Amino acid sequence: MLIGTVPVIAMNQILYKSYLKSEISNSTQTMTAQALVLVNQLVQSGYMDGNMNDVNDAILDQMAETWNGRIRIIDSRFRVIKDTYGRDSGKYCVDQAVIQGLAGAYSELYDAGTHSLWFVEPITSLDQEADILGAIAVNVDTTGIEKPLQEQQENMRMLEVTFFCIILLLTVFVLQIMLKPLNTLADSIRNAAEGNRNGSVEVANYKETQRISDAFNKTWNRMQILDESRQEFVSNVAHELKTPMTSIRVLADSLNSMGEAPVELYQEFMQDISREIDRESKIIDDLLSLTRLDKSGEALNISKMNINELMELILKRLTPIANQRSIELLFESYRPVMADIDEVKLTLAVTNLVENAIKYNKEGGWVKLSLNADHQYFYIKVSDSGCGIPEDAMEHIFERFYRVDKARSRETGGTGLGLSISKSIVLLHHGAIKAYSKMGEGTTFVVRIPLNYIAE
Ligand code: ADP
Repeated sequence: MLIGTVPVIAMNQILYKSYLKSEISNSTQTMTAQALVLVNQLVQSGYMDGNMNDVNDAILDQMAETWNGRIRIIDSRFRVIKDTYGRDSGKYCVDQAVIQGLAGAYSELYDAGTHSLWFVEPITSLDQEADILGAIAVNVDTTGIEKPLQEQQENMRMLEVTFFCIILLLTVFVLQIMLKPLNTLADSIRNAAEGNRNGSVEVANYKETQRISDAFNKTWNRMQILDESRQEFVSNVAHELKTPMTSIRVLADSLNSMGEAPVELYQEFMQDISREIDRESKIIDDLLSLTRLDKSGEALNISKMNINELMELILKRLTPIANQRSIELLFESYRPVMADIDEVKLTLAVTNLVENAIKYNKEGGWVKLSLNADHQYFYIKVSDSGCGIPEDAMEHIFERFYRVDKARSRETGGTGLGLSISKSIVLLHHGAIKAYSKMGEGTTFVVRIPLNYIAE
């Protein structure tokens, strides 16, 4: 609206001012020319030498009336010898313009505020000396010149108002059309936020609204998935925590109902109960590690470590468990590796992988841990000669509580959280983890972590 109306108003003002200026200048030119002719006539008739006659006076009066103004003739001694208003005749007039006029300079001034124009022209003798005999001072009322222009200006103002109204209506109309899809989009999003979501938000009027709708739908679906997985996680946690409790209860109830039972039986049952309690606390520990890792603010305690030594230490710690099942632990190191890692967390991640390789292995099998590096990353590979993972299970093994064989996992003390903990730790190190497996032949987990940790 401003772009439409301001230039029109400004142009109108500028045009009015320039017309007025040219009108005033034209009128002044005409009047000064006429005044010059009159003055010559006055000088010729000896008017300035005191030969004042009625004819000249009448000409002056008529001229003043035509111009709608006042004419004063002032002699060289500043005395007003003729005033068409009759007020100043015989008086002396000493103002700046008259002084200039008697010094031979022409001056003029237009005052728009008082609607008046005056000019003073020197009166000179007609001989060669051109002596200054006096000055003619003219005051004119310019209302007559301004009036037609003002009327024109009024018409223009009417046009401006009409133009403004048309632009206003047009703006409102166009805005209504343009904003409608945006309002629809805002309403759909508000409805969805309030829980009244019927299908996906779809406002395809503009490319932009389509893109906003798509982005909103994607975010919404992601939130939905997150919400579902959170609910699933909570119900899984409840279920997992309940299982050992149920076992404990069953064991305790059967002990109670047995009455007189041999001490050996009591001891056996108590050992089972103790095992279930261990399981329960392992689940809780794993859950705690996982939630701690999930916290976005979880800071890594990064330090430069010798990874070869760390891997050897992990294998050394797990040797007793491997020995129980006569599993051979092998370490293959291609080069010395120094990297920025969180020692405790990476140890936990690799321990989980090697533990799994032992747990899901056959009696007398082997587990190989190899370490390699290039200029950017180091790679930890954990391969085993175990049972392998079925192909359809591969995409789920990193999910919380996912276990291929629930019974076997429970038997070996698994919680179904080990791989998801390892994955979270690797991701925190800005790394990646992948699994390859062939049923009956074995499984390989490959971890890739940058040598230099760059905080985000
Ligand atoms: P769990 O505590 O049950 O071991 P994990 O998250 O560590 O849980 O592993 C998830 C599942 O992936 C396990 O239950 C197991 O079925 C399978 N798995 C993990 N590692 C191996 C492996 N090395 N060989 C075969 N199966 C494995």
